Amino acid sequence: NLVIVPHQIFTPTVGNIKSSFLDDISNSIPIGLVYDGYKKDNVDMYIISGSGIYSKNARRFFEQILEIKSNVPFDTAIYAPAVALPQNIATLTYLGVDLFDSTAVLIASSQDMYLTTYGFYDVNQLSELPCMCQDCSSLSHQNVMSMTRKERFSFLKKHNINVIKAELANVRQKIKDGCLREYVESQSSSSPLLTSLLRHSDNNPTYMEKITEIVRSRTLIANTSDSLHRIEFSRFSQRTLDRYSPPDNSVCLILPCSARKPYSFSQSHQKYIKALGKYRKYIHEIILSSPLGVIPRELELTYPAAHYDIAVTGHWSEDEKKIVADRLSSYLKYKSGSKKIVAHVEGAYREICERVSLELNIDIIYTATGKTTSKDSLSNLRKTVSLLLDESSNFRNLEPRKMLKSIADYQFGSKIGEILVPNNSIIKGPYPKYQVYIDQDQIATLIPQYGILALTIEGAKLIADENKYTVYIDDFIPKGSILVPGIINVDPDIRPKDEVIVKGPRVICVGRAVMSAYEMMNSSYGIAVDIRHVQKLDNS
Ligand SMILES: [Zn+2]
Repeated sequence: NLVIVPHQIFTPTVGNIKSSFLDDISNSIPIGLVYDGYKKDNVDMYIISGSGIYSKNARRFFEQILEIKSNVPFDTAIYAPAVALPQNIATLTYLGVDLFDSTAVLIASSQDMYLTTYGFYDVNQLSELPCMCQDCSSLSHQNVMSMTRKERFSFLKKHNINVIKAELANVRQKIKDGCLREYVESQSSSSPLLTSLLRHSDNNPTYMEKITEIVRSRTLIANTSDSLHRIEFSRFSQRTLDRYSPPDNSVCLILPCSARKPYSFSQSHQKYIKALGKYRKYIHEIILSSPLGVIPRELELTYPAAHYDIAVTGHWSEDEKKIVADRLSSYLKYKSGSKKIVAHVEGAYREICERVSLELNIDIIYTATGKTTSKDSLSNLRKTVSLLLDESSNFRNLEPRKMLKSIADYQFGSKIGEILVPNNSIIKGPYPKYQVYIDQDQIATLIPQYGILALTIEGAKLIADENKYTVYIDDFIPKGSILVPGIINVDPDIRPKDEVIVKGPRVICVGRAVMSAYEMMNSSYGIAVDIRHVQKLDNS
C-alpha cells in the first residue's frame, strides 16, 4: 500500500488538505508526495511533477531527476508518472527512476501503437506480428486487421502490457547482473531522446560517480561511443593522476595495449619484455589504451585495467583519439618529470603520441618501424633503451613490492603504500596471489580478481590514524554487517565495494563497503558495510 498525498500548488489557500489527509494515515503506510523543491519528513516516495516535459526537453527532464536525487534521502523512491514505455524504462531506471505506471502504454494502445523494446509500429502497417507473447501467438495479422477498433485496443493493450512487464523483468535482471549500463547504451541508441538523456547524465558525472562501484565481477563491455565516457574509465585516469607515484628513474616507455589482459600476459607484451631483457628493470612502463588512457604497468591488474573489452578494428574514432591524447598529455605533464620518453607504438597510438609531443613541446623517441612486434622494431627498442639508461638509478620496476605499493596508493590515497608496503615488508605467495607481511604479521592480501588489496586487522591498525576510507560507528561491537543507523560519520571518498576500516570507541574492523559514503549518510536504513574481521580494542 502506498498513499499519494494530493499535490498542493496553492499551499496558502488549501493548506489544510494535506494535513487532514495525513492525520488519517497510519504511520505504517508509505507516503508519496509530489516533489516541490523541498524534502519532507517521513516521505517514502517523490513524484516527478515535470514528467510531462519528458518527451519535449531531455535536458530539463534530466535536471529534474538529478535535482530530486541529490536533494532527497537516498533510499526514497522516485516515481515518474505517465512516461513509461518498453523502450525507455531501462534508461529511466539507470537515471534513478524507481516506479512506473501503465498510463503511457494505454494511451499508445488507443493510438494503434504496437510497442517493442526498440520503439513502436503502427499496427496497421505491420505485415506480421513480431512477437510471440500469449496474445500475439494465437493471432495472424489478418485477424488483427479484421478487429473492431475496440477489439484492437483490447488486443494491443494486452500485448503492450506483456512487453513492458517483460522489459521490467529484463531490467531487474540487468541490475542484478551488474550490466545495466551496457544495456542502456545499446537500448538508448533506439531513440534520440534516450541518447540525449544518457549523454546529459555522462556530461554531469558527479552524482553517478558517487554511487558507482569501485570494482565489478563482470567484464566491462565498451562497444559504443558512449562507453568512452564511462565513470570507471575517467575515475581510473583521475586516480592515477592524483594518487599514483611513478618510479624514480630516467626512462618512461609507452607501449600499446593488447586484447589479452593483464597486458603482460599477451604475446606482444611478452615480446617487448623479452626484447628489453635486463634493461627492463630500469624503465617506467606505461600502457596506452582506448578508452582507459594511461595504465602504469604496476596497475595493470587493478580494476578496470584488466576487466574491459572493446571491439578492436585498428580504427580509432576522433573521440577516442581525443580522450586518450588528453589523458596521455595530463599523465606526461604531471607524472613523467624529467624522464626521457620512448614510445614503442604504431598507427593511432603513434598519432596520439605525436599530438601530445607537439602539445607539450616534449621530445618522444619512436622505436617501432612498422609493426611493434617485428624483429627490426624490437631490436631498435632494445638498442634505444640501452643507450638512454642511466644505470645509477637502480630501480627494479617489476618487484611485487612496488606493484603492491602502487595499488595501495591507488586504493587508499597517495603515501598509504609506504605505510602498508614499506621497504622492510616481505611479499609472499605466487603472482598474483601476493600477501604482504611486516615481521610476522600479515598486513594485506592482493585479490587477483580485482587487483585491489584486502586488509587484515593489523593492516587496518597501521593506517588507522590516516582516517582514510574509514566508517565511524557508535559504541557497539558489530557482528557480520554494519547497518546505516549505527554509523556516525564516513570518509566521503568511499564507494560501493571499497575496502574500508570501521572504527568504534571499543572496536576496529575491516570489511567491504556495500554502499557509497553518500548513500550511507543519506539513507535511513540498509546494510552499509560487510564486515570481515572484528577486533575489540584493549581499552574495552
Ligand atoms: Zn505480443
